[in-house]
Amino acid sequence: MPIVMESNPEPQFKVRDEAVERIAERLGVRAERGRRFAELTSLRVGGAVDWVISPDTEEKAAAVVYELDQAGVAWRPLGSGSNVLADDGAHHYVILSLKDLKGEPLFDGDLVSISAGYSLPRLCIDVARKGLSGIEGLGGIPGTVGGALWMNAGAYGHEIGTVTETVRTARGGRVVEVPGSDVQWNYRHTSFREGELLLGATLRLQPDDAEKIRARMEEAKDRRMASQPHGSRSAGCFFKNPPAGKVGTGKIIDDLGMKGTRRGSALVSPVHANFIVTEGENASAADAIALAEEIRERVKREQGIDLEYEVELWRANEPAPSAENVPDNQKEQQS
Ligand SMILES: Cc1cc2nc3c(=O)[nH]c(=O)nc-3n(C[C@H](O)[C@H](O)[C@H](O)COP(=O)(O)OP(=O)(O)OC[C@H]3O[C@@H](n4cnc5c(N)ncnc54)[C@H](O)[C@@H]3O)c2cc1C
Repeated sequence: MPIVMESNPEPQFKVRDEAVERIAERLGVRAERGRRFAELTSLRVGGAVDWVISPDTEEKAAAVVYELDQAGVAWRPLGSGSNVLADDGAHHYVILSLKDLKGEPLFDGDLVSISAGYSLPRLCIDVARKGLSGIEGLGGIPGTVGGALWMNAGAYGHEIGTVTETVRTARGGRVVEVPGSDVQWNYRHTSFREGELLLGATLRLQPDDAEKIRARMEEAKDRRMASQPHGSRSAGCFFKNPPAGKVGTGKIIDDLGMKGTRRGSALVSPVHANFIVTEGENASAADAIALAEEIRERVKREQGIDLEYEVELWRANEPAPSAENVPDNQKEQQS
């Protein structure tokens, strides 16, 4: 049974809220109100979001987003929120959470099929135990398989796109399988279009000795532990490395003496200068954004380099990307 909490009292959202309740009820998916990005993201900052809908099968997820589009309701996908910085405003759209989409991996020889909400670190352990190699470098990346596919997560010589045989996406209310070779897998970026929901993937891995794979995973973990803050609230590397540069962004920021620089509740990690961490019960996204902009300005001024965000910045006053999917005659209902 769907859990539907009290509706948004603001009158302009009445029609939208009724549509969300109707869709959740009909498809039997959990729909909640009253959640905040501060609970949904690893930086633990960010304002309220109107709805969080959590389908528990790929078919339901595909049907939900189709019906939301048809009803003119804006939505955004979210996995573990480990690469998202949402601002402190009120976000008037639906979060399509993939966290309940996490059935056990299905193995077939060198192939493993997995849903988008499954934990990436857990998948790395599962496949290593089966003696399958190709993603052991990704073992320390927090988040879901869907989030990793979306931005082609990578570390220590491995990227998820390299081993992706097929991706299942939501199209026209159905689960559609797309060959991995049809996707462009770039550095922390893919050719998936904004507003597209990824439901799962099949990975093709290489058989290898389970003990050797485990040893490589441990080595990657040790390197990560030695170079990155752990136990802190972050979103991983905040900025991408410059395209042509040999020097990483962490070193560039470190060379400017910015480790430990603070803006209110946000801090440049003293361990890794490309990590912004937040502290305290009342930490704000505004502090993290102000600090990120200060870093960008100094790097531009002193090194002439334009840093690009690796973390996704979600602004409450910008339309959710799914707005593009909405039929023209319903666009006025979008927030
Ligand atoms: C301590 C730390 C270390 C990290 N180290 C690394 C690293 O080494 N390498 C690396 O690449 N990243 C790293 N990251 C960043 C992050 O963990 C990865 O980007 C991760 O893959 C994001 O997964 P997620 O489920 O948290 O995605 P989210 O943060 O929830 O979402 C990220 C983006 O993906 C989209 N998305 C999520 N799921 C779906 C879906 N099913 N369909 C469509 N779109 C979707 C969201 O809309 C959003 O645009 C690190 C983060 C932390 C906190």
